[in-house]
Amino acid sequence: GYKRVLEENRKLYNLVQDLRGNIRVYCRVRPFLPGKASGLSAVDHVDEGSITIITPSKYGKEGRKSFTFNKVFGPAASQEEVFADTQPLIRSVLDGYNVCIFAYGQTGSGKTHTMTGPDDLKEETMGVNYRALRDLFLLSEQRKDTISYEISVQMLEIYNEQVKDLLATDGQNKRLEIRNSSQKGLNVPDANTVPVKSTSDVIYLMNLGHKNRSVGSTAMNIRSSRSHSCLTVHVQGRDLASNTVLRGSMHLVDLAGSERVDKSEAVGERLKEAQHINKSLSALGDVIASLAQKNTHVPYRNSKLTQLLQDSLGGQAKTLMFVHISPEHDAIGETISTLKFAERVSSVELGAARANKDSADVKELKEQIATLKAALARKE
Ligand code: ADP
Ligand code: MG
Repeated sequence: GYKRVLEENRKLYNLVQDLRGNIRVYCRVRPFLPGKASGLSAVDHVDEGSITIITPSKYGKEGRKSFTFNKVFGPAASQEEVFADTQPLIRSVLDGYNVCIFAYGQTGSGKTHTMTGPDDLKEETMGVNYRALRDLFLLSEQRKDTISYEISVQMLEIYNEQVKDLLATDGQNKRLEIRNSSQKGLNVPDANTVPVKSTSDVIYLMNLGHKNRSVGSTAMNIRSSRSHSCLTVHVQGRDLASNTVLRGSMHLVDLAGSERVDKSEAVGERLKEAQHINKSLSALGDVIASLAQKNTHVPYRNSKLTQLLQDSLGGQAKTLMFVHISPEHDAIGETISTLKFAERVSSVELGAARANKDSADVKELKEQIATLKAALARKE
């Protein structure tokens, strides 16, 4: 009785989650940085699913605006808490799904902190990349009596619409092509693909990638905020009984800074970079938004980034975007445009708007859940 009702409830909940689609948007607010005058905050409050910001007004009177997400992490959230909700995605990679995880936001908002973590390389502050691979190793070990897994990684950088290999060992850092093969789908065959067996292999490669990224660049931070970096994990599992093979992949992408560049100031190289970033971030936004709206045409071909990730965006693939917010009041302009971008790619709002079109199923399931909850409440 009681247990079965609980079990049913959970099953239905999962179904509803599935029907909601494969795009998740989480928002993370960076804390004020130590040593910097904290100043005024642009964030009024944060709860589990929404964020309210303070908007300036021409007339001196402040306004409030709220945005809804699948999840919001406040400034005190730890790396572990932020990763916890990502864990189911990691499991699905081993089940043969393709997954993309993005970090979006203006430079300095915490993208690299979320994906990589601070340079000290302490276990408790490691970011999503490390934790994802750690979990892949742990879970594949647990399944080793039934499935034999091989895990390998690539690290790519997209800078000015050119794809470069961050794991190149010849120091050449040449420009690579994205190709389409019938067996592997879209991939970059000429980039180094390195088998990994443990987290120490991964740390070694991350360091190598980090070093390669700064080659030819005088100011590493500046370069890294103007390029996308992508850690791709390929997983191949062979079922020991049937010998069938399944493939899953995961792209972990630290995007270029989303800040708009003042057109009057940017010239030459800086202007070119800004145009490329702008183009690829809008292309990404267009792709995710059209997937969230279930459009039939998805414009993958408008940037290298969306071409590269084509097989892992849409269809059965799962997408998670971490949208990063700086808390400072003087960043409010960028914060608002970041939140607007996030709102556009988020299926939350659209899900509500779509309600009468395609979610009769969702409605029915919700009613069943309500009935079951009521039944459950009566038992207690
Ligand atoms: P981005 O990659 O978006 O340019 P970073 O991740 O480099 O931004 O973050 C900018 C600074 O803020 C770094 O010094 C980073 O260590 C710090 N920082 C970012 N997010 C957090 C956080 N959640 N907790 C503590 N420090 C953070
Ligand atoms: Mg960064």
